Amino acid sequence: CGIVGVLGNHEVAPILVEALKRLEYRGYDSAGIATVNDGTLDRRRAVGKLVNLSDLLVHDPLPGKSGIGHTRWATHGAPTEANAHPHRAGRVAVVHNGIIENFRELRAELAAAGVTFATQTDTELVALLTERHMAEGLAPAEAVFKTLDRLTGAFALALLFQGEEDLIIAARKGSPLAIGHGEGEMYVGSDAIALAPLTDRITYLEEGDRAIVTRAGVEIRDVEGRLVNRPVKQIQLDA
Ligand code: GLU
Repeated sequence: CGIVGVLGNHEVAPILVEALKRLEYRGYDSAGIATVNDGTLDRRRAVGKLVNLSDLLVHDPLPGKSGIGHTRWATHGAPTEANAHPHRAGRVAVVHNGIIENFRELRAELAAAGVTFATQTDTELVALLTERHMAEGLAPAEAVFKTLDRLTGAFALALLFQGEEDLIIAARKGSPLAIGHGEGEMYVGSDAIALAPLTDRITYLEEGDRAIVTRAGVEIRDVEGRLVNRPVKQIQLDA
């Protein structure tokens, strides 16, 4: 239901939780974050209120300066910890808003190929497909783009990768997604409100856009893979 992402210069877990709090107004049934720390991808998830996730992080901290976070409003699969985002397959973690409409067909295809599933969600397919594309030798961005070409529905996505501390891939198809520009940091959010304490310089992705985000900035490609220029807007929010 809500997505955030941070490529920062400080411990990112509390920043992600704070940004997720700003998306609480959308409603949610569970929440989670993933980070990359010294190359290692890991995650923490909790059912219910964000405070459950913060409590979990007190006892079981998640270090790292790069991360993604999610508040979930379940559409496919019950609101359990196993179904909470981020979802992971191998080197890939993903958070997702919306619905992947051809999930039955994709799930059947993966099942036929011998893949087993850890969740009942449509989202897990994105991680599984991307991991398979990476196993074929594709770099993370190309692997995600190849996955995106297979998905129908309305959604927004952000992906984080094992071994990649300076990379988030984000995509928008039917659900809004904003990229925030910081000082040597970059952010991703479902809306600018989520990012308000971090930055007021925002680039809105347009329909079908795919963003390769690093601390140096963002490269945006349209649905055909063409490099496009989207404006950076100075926005005004009552933070
Ligand atoms: N369809 C996904 C799920 O049920 C994402 C729902 C959302 O937007 O939070 O997990």
